[in-house]
Amino acid sequence: MPGKDIICILCPRGCRIKIDYNVDNSSVSNITGYGCQKGLDYGLEELHNPSRIITTTVRVKNGELPLLPVKTERGIPKDLIFPVMKEISNIEVEAPVRIGQIIKRNLLNTGIDLIAGRDILKYNGDEFPDKKKKGAEAPVIE
Ligand code: SF4
Repeated sequence: MPGKDIICILCPRGCRIKIDYNVDNSSVSNITGYGCQKGLDYGLEELHNPSRIITTTVRVKNGELPLLPVKTERGIPKDLIFPVMKEISNIEVEAPVRIGQIIKRNLLNTGIDLIAGRDILKYNGDEFPDKKKKGAEAPVIE
């Protein structure tokens, strides 16, 4: 009977989850090693639909910093990670940007949005605007 060993990454305990499954109908016959319900759910998700949250940066135009940290709001299916990374690498956003702002909706038709990880102020030549009066959000890239 085939099996899969998975290290749970949800907390520092790092439980080693072992899943045995039937090849014919891919149903799980035995699962051991998890320390909590979240880990059990994680193990089953990793078996059937493995995904990862992407954290990276995009370029910023006219900002106080040249790069904006971003992350996907949910996990991207593992087989789409490289195509999604390629799509993200083409994004350039105009400052100002607010933390939590949607930078790109529906990455590669996954239904998952790309979210800003921090504020970026607009840089006007040699003067920053007053931090308390942040400007309007940059437009979402559709
Ligand atoms: S199974 Fe539960 S206790 Fe074990 S690493 Fe995952 S989250 Fe932590």
